[in-house]
Amino acid sequence: MATSWGSLFQDEQQLEELARQAVDRALAEGVLLRTKQEPSSSDVVSYAPFTLFPSLVPCALLEQAYAVQMDFNLLVDAVSQNAVFLEQTLSSTIKRDTFTAKLFDIYKQVLKEGIAQTVFLGLNRSDYMFQSNADGSPALKQIEINTISASFGGLASRTPDVHRHVLNVLNKTTEATKILSNNPSKGLALGIAKAWELYGSANALVLLIAQEKERNIFDQRAIENELLARNIHVIRRRFEDVSEKGSLDQDRRLFMDGQEVAVVYFRDGYMPSQYSLQNWEARLLLERSCAIKCPDIATQLAGTKKGEEGDQAIAEALTAPSRFVLKPQREGGGNNLYGEEMVQALERLKDSEERASYILMEKIEPEPFRNCLLRPGSSARVVQCISELGIFGVYVRQGKTVVMNTHAGHLLRTKAIEHADGGVAAGVAVLDNPYPV
Ligand code: ADP
Ligand code: MG
Repeated sequence: MATSWGSLFQDEQQLEELARQAVDRALAEGVLLRTKQEPSSSDVVSYAPFTLFPSLVPCALLEQAYAVQMDFNLLVDAVSQNAVFLEQTLSSTIKRDTFTAKLFDIYKQVLKEGIAQTVFLGLNRSDYMFQSNADGSPALKQIEINTISASFGGLASRTPDVHRHVLNVLNKTTEATKILSNNPSKGLALGIAKAWELYGSANALVLLIAQEKERNIFDQRAIENELLARNIHVIRRRFEDVSEKGSLDQDRRLFMDGQEVAVVYFRDGYMPSQYSLQNWEARLLLERSCAIKCPDIATQLAGTKKGEEGDQAIAEALTAPSRFVLKPQREGGGNNLYGEEMVQALERLKDSEERASYILMEKIEPEPFRNCLLRPGSSARVVQCISELGIFGVYVRQGKTVVMNTHAGHLLRTKAIEHADGGVAAGVAVLDNPYPV
């Protein structure tokens, strides 16, 4: 992939000036994070890291990723409804992975009691990297599907104007118009709004399960704002609040601080560290309710990273470690093992049941390109990069009927090639936009 911005990297002074303009536009557009120093409720903010230039992505790949999204929505939804498949696929994992086991426990309890929820809402993001086929043509390779707390739809709605600004400053006005418009926060909110409407109680609220310290709050606020514009009110509460002030009535309707909840939108609860005993209790209470959980526990389980097992795969990975990546059942970035670390883990896991809590995946090798990364507190850095494209999926099902199934925009994240793992929140990848070629 050649970069058409190559000539723009030469003059360092011009680059610094351009970076300053880009950063100011990002701040003005609301491409914001709270700072590491003050992650809680605070008015101290900075910009979310981003690339100075949009990165080139073949149109065909963008189109393909969009074209398959509705099928992936249906697939996730189907898996979530197939108790036999979930149990079989995850049986070896839950023996060894306590986090997945705990989620599965709640799932079984809810199944046993009977699922009170009748409307289902999926907001997911399917992530891809680009890799050339043998004939040199580019292809999408799926990394994962996020079925819980898929983030950056809000900030991704704000970044196109930043890159348009950069190109306009450079007098590349025609190029600026080619940056795709993107509004995942609206699409995600429309899904929540549809679910809320089907719940059928005009005074019921949306409950956003939030972390105590949330740097990425403006991403979430973008969705809240879209809902409020449609007269749907959102309250933000922690799991701890749910366990203290949440309750079910005899019909298993969920009440929070005395107000009925139609939709529970999780932006917490995808990592073991986010659950105390009390939080697990709160999660169970939410799952037992007839409120529309996004996601319900089955859909969270459907997003588990689980591949085929086999000694053959391990043997291959040990002979060619650079071709593989070892992934535990974790979300949120920074958990995968590569190279020597992977080899050591495989040697240790080889003959143990514990290996079932991991998957071994062929490493995707995208073609690196140059871009300039902008981060608060650092000067503009031109480096070799790779990108990861995410497509947001939205669906709503009422009983057996799918009443909404759509895609809701994209997210491009770019990182320096030396960073194997990690997303924007983990401080590795930065926000970007695809420049279709
Ligand atoms: P998480 O749930 O933590 O986001 P991912 O499966 O997305 O887990 O892995 C985290 C990061 O690791 C990805 O964003 C990607 O950069 C890298 N990664 C994951 N799988 C592969 C792979 N098969 N090949 C190359 N890089 C990968
Ligand atoms: Mg990921």
